[in-house]
Amino acid sequence: MQNSLRYTKLFGKSLRESPADETSINAKLLIKSGFISKHMAGAFNILPLGLRVIAKISTIVREEMNKIDGQEVLMTVLQPKELWEETGRWSKLKGAMYQMKDSSGKDVGLGFTHEEPMISIARTRAQSYKDLPIYLYQIQSKFRDEPRARSGLIRGREFMMKDLYSFTTSKAELDKYYEVVGKAYKKVYERMGLNTVYTEAAGGVFTKDNTHEFQVLTEGGEDTIFYCDGKGCGFAENKEIARVSSGDKCQKCAKTGHDETIKEARGIEVGNIFRFGDVMTKQMGFTFKDKDGQDKPVFLGSYGIGITRSMAAIVETHNDEKGIIWPESVAPFQIHLINIGEGKVKDEANKNFEELTKEGKEVLYDDREVSAGVKLSDADLIGIPERWVVSEKTLKENSVEVKKRSEKDSKLVKISSL
Ligand SMILES: [Zn+2]
Repeated sequence: MQNSLRYTKLFGKSLRESPADETSINAKLLIKSGFISKHMAGAFNILPLGLRVIAKISTIVREEMNKIDGQEVLMTVLQPKELWEETGRWSKLKGAMYQMKDSSGKDVGLGFTHEEPMISIARTRAQSYKDLPIYLYQIQSKFRDEPRARSGLIRGREFMMKDLYSFTTSKAELDKYYEVVGKAYKKVYERMGLNTVYTEAAGGVFTKDNTHEFQVLTEGGEDTIFYCDGKGCGFAENKEIARVSSGDKCQKCAKTGHDETIKEARGIEVGNIFRFGDVMTKQMGFTFKDKDGQDKPVFLGSYGIGITRSMAAIVETHNDEKGIIWPESVAPFQIHLINIGEGKVKDEANKNFEELTKEGKEVLYDDREVSAGVKLSDADLIGIPERWVVSEKTLKENSVEVKKRSEKDSKLVKISSL
């Protein structure tokens, strides 16, 4: 990834109008500002600006997964029917998984999730207690034949996901790792600027119970969450399984003598964790020999983070009427440099661009010959955390005007001190 870029060379410049066929904030802003383009319903191309954000999100995810002993692999997207018949999910997932016949008449599918393929590689290489536990993850495109593709990157038919799978020798070991992953996830989301609510949920087509979601509470969400924001409480349930409703007294708080009320909010599910236990591994004959030479079932846990969906959730929760406000950790560039004026002004801006780049700063330099208004409104739309303006006025003061995207006021900073 280059450190810096001149806007004149960027592929995917901002559009003057919002896309008319999109209603979600994330799709409107990301398309208008040139981060993504729509390919078909539920499928979006990631443009250079967008890919920089995806790369930063992925780096955060990788760092935290590696810290909890995850090892990265890359599985195939193409799936043979036979493998998915071992768990009975080929027929169960009909209508949700892309399933088709290839030119030889063989049934193949596109990766919907990867429990079966992961078990298939783990069972050939882990046969003894000495080979376990194993924690494998990948960052890859997933496919879902989603009839209600909408909300931009929130509900897509093709999207990027990080999926981690744990193979352990006991239920206790699975439970312990499940908690470790939960904590790592919290950290991942904090690092990318997302506040998440740890929510009890139904497993859907995955498991009956033992499932949690990480929900970002925001109007643009598709899920409904009942939660309590009492201090230290942490109660939250997805409406799908909720035993409470809005306005109820929080029973958890009541136990400690506190009077709190259950609230209702919309949420975007940016991650989920499942305890499959030994059901699927038994179906697929994945056992290991313990110390006494006895065959025992392996326990499976499965943990997802929506990469493109996280990008959408960040945009849904970090914007104003002018555009996106990227958190520093995932911003495509750190500095948006603008020259207002030509001649000496442009020379000074060029110099700044070269020096900042040499120092390793990530700079998007708007060197176009367009009006100040266009440059400033595009800077607000794209949402890079810091804007630097070089103009006649700032040159007179030997300064650059520095403004944070998240703040109202700008300040003049002496060039010598930069
Ligand atoms: Zn409570």
